[in-house]
Amino acid sequence: MTFHGISPDIRAALERVLGQSGVAADPTSMAKYLADWSGDHHGSALAVLKPASVAEVQAAVRLCGTLGLAMIPQGGNTGLVAGAIDIGTTPGAVVISLERLNRIRSVDADNFTLQADAGCILQHIKDVADDQDCLFPLALGAQGSCQIGGNAASNAGGVNVLRYGMARDLIVGLEVVLPDGDLWSGFSGLRKDNRGYDLKQLFIGAEGTLGIITGVEVKLSPKPGQIETAYLGLPSFESAIALFRQARRGCSDLISAFEIIGSECMELARLADPTIVAPVDAPVHVLIELSSSAAVELRSLLVDFLAGVMERHLVADAVLAESGAQAKAFWAIREGLVEGQARRGYHVRTDLSVRISDIPTLIAQARGFVALEHPGWISQAYGHAGDGNIHFNVLPPLDLAEADARARGVAITARLYDIVTALGGSVSAEHGIGRTRQRVYWTGMSPVHRRLVSTLKNAIDPAGLMNPGCLFPVTETCS
Ligand SMILES: Cc1cc2nc3c(=O)[nH]c(=O)nc-3n(C[C@H](O)[C@H](O)[C@H](O)COP(=O)(O)OP(=O)(O)OC[C@H]3O[C@@H](n4cnc5c(N)ncnc54)[C@H](O)[C@@H]3O)c2cc1C
Repeated sequence: MTFHGISPDIRAALERVLGQSGVAADPTSMAKYLADWSGDHHGSALAVLKPASVAEVQAAVRLCGTLGLAMIPQGGNTGLVAGAIDIGTTPGAVVISLERLNRIRSVDADNFTLQADAGCILQHIKDVADDQDCLFPLALGAQGSCQIGGNAASNAGGVNVLRYGMARDLIVGLEVVLPDGDLWSGFSGLRKDNRGYDLKQLFIGAEGTLGIITGVEVKLSPKPGQIETAYLGLPSFESAIALFRQARRGCSDLISAFEIIGSECMELARLADPTIVAPVDAPVHVLIELSSSAAVELRSLLVDFLAGVMERHLVADAVLAESGAQAKAFWAIREGLVEGQARRGYHVRTDLSVRISDIPTLIAQARGFVALEHPGWISQAYGHAGDGNIHFNVLPPLDLAEADARARGVAITARLYDIVTALGGSVSAEHGIGRTRQRVYWTGMSPVHRRLVSTLKNAIDPAGLMNPGCLFPVTETCS
């Protein structure tokens, strides 16, 4: 980590606006803000600013504008694409952490909405919704650390997208401090509001490049009274996709999650928790969840459906969770494999999406290329298959030096992006672009697309101080 050092004058000016507790400028107190969850990325910053109110965010943004300081908004720092930390492209920036803006502002259970400060941890929002007999369905492995503002800024997905949509679909209103320090409040509590441009959608998924989100109003759903979870073993990814097609119809639109896991991922799950045992023995595992808020015969629906698909040999083995604890154990496999990969160390990490029917081709081509051209590297395929989203990760041989692995990883990643692009897919299904995918994003868009994106950026952030290097190149002009 590089420490650029802050001048006493700038530090004093920042402290006048935020108080001493609102400014961290020494390496020790900044350290936790300058390393991401994966441990892959370590950054630098002039200082970390920690405003405690919306007014302080406005004052900090105005002061940074006057001083010409680039600003990097930061939520829980769980994003996996270096959007919330500089990795060498934005030296001399300040990180603006939202962690002290962490109040639930209101819950309206009749309107099924909840309003919160942007720095609220996602799990806290889910717990508060639960207390009101409601569900906030955004669900991801990082929910104990990520913030609702970060979820909005990165348009987070997760395991329930299939039923409830991405963050973009779950947000009814936003409050944003613009790059000039003005506050735009887009709260109305209205689910339908067709007055012209839907401005909140500009800021959702903008990864902090257009302003700092300070408040979020989310849609709640009725809390499911029943949840049924099954862990299935299948012969192939082709059969998993055929199963999905049939399950969408056969389970009355009640599927809330459909995850696939290549059996090779089990070893990694056991790195996170050695007690993990696969409930089935098959090349491909599927975790399927059905949920309903009303008194539907959910279990018999799932049992009948599974009996039918097993009879047709689409599914080889199936274990139905007999308790909440067993369902949790199934999910621990899915979450554990992500943690296990991180514990193993550096690896190629992707977040690809294709049309659902192209998933088997994507995995076959990616696996084939790795086996042929990078023997010793280990492919891992898993993901939110019901949304066409596959995380195809590749682990280097353990005896390869990290620097060599990283160098080779760049070439492997580029080739995986070629494969997904040839299939008409996306290099970012849900994690965003950040700094690590900036180049492939920028070079992959059409001139007209680039012009529109640049026009929006230049109109809202003409000085280019809001998260430079993220999404947009810093070395070229944005036009
Ligand atoms: C174990 C694990 C599992 C994960 N699973 C999923 C998954 O299933 N689906 C998924 O979509 N993601 C997943 N992620 C990625 C990550 O958790 C999400 O992208 C999450 O939404 C990031 O939230 P955050 O608060 O940590 O944001 P950060 O990482 O702090 O920031 C992400 C981006 O948003 C910007 N930003 C943050 N807060 C604000 C704000 N208030 N205003 C403006 N800009 C802001 C940052 O500048 C950055 O560009 C996972 C991550 C981990 C570690």
